[in-house]
Amino acid sequence: MSETRKIRVDLDNHHVHLRQETVYRLFGDGYVLPQKKDLGGGEYVSTQTIAVQGPKGKIEGVRVIGPHRPFDQVELLASDAVKLGVSAPIAESGDLADACELTLVGPAGSATLRCGIIAARHVHIATKLLEELGLKNAQAVSITSGGPRSVTFHNVIVRENSDSDLSVIHMDFEEGNAAGVKTGDFLELEY
Ligand SMILES: [Zn+2]
Repeated sequence: MSETRKIRVDLDNHHVHLRQETVYRLFGDGYVLPQKKDLGGGEYVSTQTIAVQGPKGKIEGVRVIGPHRPFDQVELLASDAVKLGVSAPIAESGDLADACELTLVGPAGSATLRCGIIAARHVHIATKLLEELGLKNAQAVSITSGGPRSVTFHNVIVRENSDSDLSVIHMDFEEGNAAGVKTGDFLELEY
């Protein structure tokens, strides 16, 4: 018999991470993205959004995460990829080898970049808990939701959280909706 551990869930909507030079291109030279909400680890939700254009459609109001990253990355929902007319790979953050090309449109300019992925679901687990559960960074685990739409999510990648005691599962709105899961719910990790 395997054991289970409750882990809190945090659902992500589509959003974009930008390099500093891309921030300047979309918003103007020297622009600093205003902060709306602190995310910890030096990152924040900005008050700013951009539009994302693909061959078949455009999505307005895609939230920008600040301040900037070493790579441009648009994290799409699966339905966004259909609307935009692109084939976006399911990939871990920073793995842009197969990313699709998108045009990012800001108030001061636009940029066409290979930057579109659908973020692979993952679970951040604090180092101490990782040891307690006998799990390792980068391994895949299975996590189950309860309720009438109960689903077991396989291939959830473990990411060691060395600078916080927090353990949290990140998946997108569509995955959550399909399983009747909301931010703040607790799912069961099998180990
Ligand atoms: Zn995450």
